[in-house]
Amino acid sequence: MSPSRNRNVLVAVLAVMVVVLALGAVAGIRLIAGPPGGGFARALGGASTGPSGDSVPAAPGDPGGGDLYFPGYGNGGYDVERYDLKLRYDPATDRLSGVARVTAKATQALSRFNFDFGRLSISSLKVDNADATSEHDNKTELTVIPAAPLVAGRTFTVDMAYTGTPIGEAFNHTATGAIVLGEPESATEWYPSNDHPKDKAAYEIEITVPDGLTAVSNGVPGGSTLGGDGWRTWKWSQSAPMASYLAMMAIGKFRIFEGTSDGLRYYTAVDEAQPAGGVAEQCVRRSPEVAAFLATQFGPYPFDITGGIVVSLGTLGFALENQTRPIYPPSFFTAGEPAGTSIVAHELAHQWFGDSVSVGQWRDIWLNEGFATYAQWLWEEKDDGITAQAQFDRTYATPETDEIWRPAPGDPGADDVFAESVYVRGAMSVHALRMTIGDDVFFKLLKEWTSTKKGSTGLITEFQALAEKLSGKELDTLFQQWLYTQTKPPYPGR
Ligand code: ZN
Repeated sequence: MSPSRNRNVLVAVLAVMVVVLALGAVAGIRLIAGPPGGGFARALGGASTGPSGDSVPAAPGDPGGGDLYFPGYGNGGYDVERYDLKLRYDPATDRLSGVARVTAKATQALSRFNFDFGRLSISSLKVDNADATSEHDNKTELTVIPAAPLVAGRTFTVDMAYTGTPIGEAFNHTATGAIVLGEPESATEWYPSNDHPKDKAAYEIEITVPDGLTAVSNGVPGGSTLGGDGWRTWKWSQSAPMASYLAMMAIGKFRIFEGTSDGLRYYTAVDEAQPAGGVAEQCVRRSPEVAAFLATQFGPYPFDITGGIVVSLGTLGFALENQTRPIYPPSFFTAGEPAGTSIVAHELAHQWFGDSVSVGQWRDIWLNEGFATYAQWLWEEKDDGITAQAQFDRTYATPETDEIWRPAPGDPGADDVFAESVYVRGAMSVHALRMTIGDDVFFKLLKEWTSTKKGSTGLITEFQALAEKLSGKELDTLFQQWLYTQTKPPYPGR
């Protein structure tokens, strides 16, 4: 910043301070005579009193969340505590209606704030039970304008009713219902959110569907009840913090496998169109066993339930690590074993790397995909013998000209967050770190990372700092070579 810009900023800051002081004085006087609540603040053009008693002018919340790759994702000015979603979907008419209550805490005095919300139309909107107005671009940004500004530090509720025909990429129509999933974004197609992993929240989800269909979502099942209208409501509760893209719903006809295995609860669903007892069902039913193995590598399983869903959706090219209940397309299981449980190991590894510890920036996707792919190597070593070292050596032999080396997994670019290099070179990077710091420190590092970061987010820089602390080694060269160059790194230790 130039010296003259510096001076201008100083002048502006002083001017704001004068206004704030003046508003504070007026607000102070009005506080004595004025009505309780925020009524006086509106009259003053949006000043409100913060928890410290300082008067700060209410300002719009940031319509973006500060992501370096996806600046439109997420919003500023508040922090969601929980989502209570009541959804109703009719496969016959393809209409989705929702009643969402979002409970959030204002992190600044807010004159207005944004949700990420797509194309469904809003029929009612209230903030703290008072009618609010809104501006909606019908793509991703919904601006909520409360009747009175929100005081910094206060918890508030937003109630929103909406309806429409979902048309986005995350909303998949199936023969019997719908499957809603997607990364890095999917929430905007079915509920209003602060759509960035750094604002995680608890979820209570109710899905009402015609009787005869099952609706599956994240977390612990709360059973179902049949309403007088012949529709059935399924309840789901995800009390551990969850990133918005990890919420899902699967509506259809499923075979359900439920129980407890070695102390870990599970709920697994397989689309009825898939053969009973077939490879997909066999593989996904091994989820508790795979989770138990991964717990020996990464530390305790981070949630109170596990499971998975095999859907009949030919167009789905990926599985996704939805929290507590990944979704798998049947195509992943056609090869039989070991590929079948390998994908289960991948998605369940994400429960630690991605779900419990989420990316603080989408740029740092290596923390998800590198480790989930590495977990496949660990599982395959345990399940059928090929060692992680052999996998590394085999993959490392890939010529420098091959696609797997580029882009750099630590900063692949917004268009390439799911490039093969993020997965394959990403897994090699994890193993290169293991070779450099040794097995004992490596597994201690994984366990310490997942326990200290549990329920929050992490960055590669923080992971590197922890690795350096625990190993006592300076690892900058290794991280640079493996994560940030476009070239094939030297073999570790050479
Ligand atoms: Zn993955």
